[in-house]
Amino acid sequence: MENFFIDFFKIIGEDSQREGLKNTPNRVIKSWEQLYSGYLKNPKDILQTTFSEGSCDEMVVLKNIEFYSMCEHHILPFFGTISLGYIPDKKLIGISKLVQVVEIFSRRLQIQENLTTQIADTLMEELKPQGVMVVTEATHLCMIMQGIEKKNATLITSAVRGTFKKDARSRAEFMEHIK
Ligand SMILES: [Zn+2]
Repeated sequence: MENFFIDFFKIIGEDSQREGLKNTPNRVIKSWEQLYSGYLKNPKDILQTTFSEGSCDEMVVLKNIEFYSMCEHHILPFFGTISLGYIPDKKLIGISKLVQVVEIFSRRLQIQENLTTQIADTLMEELKPQGVMVVTEATHLCMIMQGIEKKNATLITSAVRGTFKKDARSRAEFMEHIK
């Protein structure tokens, strides 16, 4: 790992022996433990504890879940909010579990499109709801810092599963909730 950082400093034109950089490799590795903690957890485990409340089949929406992730193309942060909704079929899940699923998938190298679909597909598989919809809105430092996009540009991705796909009214209701 030491060589990795020596190479890195050399590639960017830094002096790897410089005093201020002495502890940087250790600090960076320490920060990775949190930034990439999603690899150590399986979101499916989180979704095992479900409950059922009568015959609940009304839409459940959790909006503006804050997330921070790293783009797998540039290893630079992208961050924003994820809003998700599902129409249960017997199985309900606690709010904190939904937040944890977002956390696990975002604390990995990602692209926003996959982050969005992985959350939707996992909820579909584990909760077997009538439908799931996920909308992610994020700012990408790789776009901003490299000057590819204007500063205020945000990328919006969505994943639509089950009932939401067929039923425009459900989609509209969800969009109304999260706007
Ligand atoms: Zn990128």
